[in-house]
Amino acid sequence: MATRTRRPRACTYCPKPDADACVRVTAPEAGSVHIFAHKSCATERGVNWWYVVLDEPTEASQ
Ligand SMILES: [Zn+2]
Repeated sequence: MATRTRRPRACTYCPKPDADACVRVTAPEAGSVHIFAHKSCATERGVNWWYVVLDEPTEASQ
């Protein structure tokens, strides 16, 4: 059984949960925190998101 590491991802632009894209990562001094947002919220603000989060359990092969 895959270990799920899903955490609730808050959108940085709105109060709704389940943000599905990473818009930026803070500096290493700040902990390299990945900041998430909804793709639509980012697009509305002209922000290019870095990557989209796939809500599938990732399983290490081998
Ligand atoms: Zn949002």
